[in-house]
Amino acid sequence: MSSSILERITAIRSSLPASVRLIAVTKQVPTEAMRSAYAAGIRDFGESRIQEAASKQTELQDLSDITWHFIGQLQANKAKKAIEQFSWIHSVDNLKLAQRLNQLAQQLGVSPLVCLQVKILPDPNKAGWNVSQLLTDLPALNQCKNLQIQGLMTIPPLGLSDSQIENVFNDTRDLAKQIQEQHWSDIQMQHLSMGMSSDYQIAVHAGATMVRLGTILFGGRPL
Ligand SMILES: *Cc1c(COP(=O)(O)O)cnc(C)c1O
Repeated sequence: MSSSILERITAIRSSLPASVRLIAVTKQVPTEAMRSAYAAGIRDFGESRIQEAASKQTELQDLSDITWHFIGQLQANKAKKAIEQFSWIHSVDNLKLAQRLNQLAQQLGVSPLVCLQVKILPDPNKAGWNVSQLLTDLPALNQCKNLQIQGLMTIPPLGLSDSQIENVFNDTRDLAKQIQEQHWSDIQMQHLSMGMSSDYQIAVHAGATMVRLGTILFGGRPL
């Protein structure tokens, strides 16, 4: 890609509805490029590794109005750091992890914003609730009073056609609506974190409120 980060961010930002939050996914992206993204107006950054994020957060301390989003698979032993370092955790993918985060949040006196990661289709390569397990776990999730459950996150399996991806996103939106209509006291379903570089337009069309974009803003990552 020959255009600059500023140009790419400006173009994508203007193509998105104003209500959609653009999260710049900066795993493996150096902090100089993150500063360019910041200068282009980005305030939401997504990272998938606790350790990598920690050193970047230190380097970027002067940019004090960044909101940090954790989007990677979270090991139980990193849960405390995740809560300390991130305002949002998009990848809460099982009840045990939710309960652990809830307990830690209580101890730390914080209320992290979280999304529940769901798998609409079976996918051995991804973590997340399947639909029936999520519905079963809602009463226990509603007891996690120190988590601000905001909505659902999903990543379609690799190799789907556009129309299959569209179905995954539409089903995720409908599931959020179904849960919202159950009127849980401590589960909100206003947010849908879905859409990456290759499928964000489909996601936005299906109702995404947050898109997580890496490659399309910063170029390809080394493998
Ligand atoms: C890496 C990653 C992204 C961004 O992916 P791109 O294809 O580079 O836009 C989004 N969400 C999650 C969970 C990721 O791990």
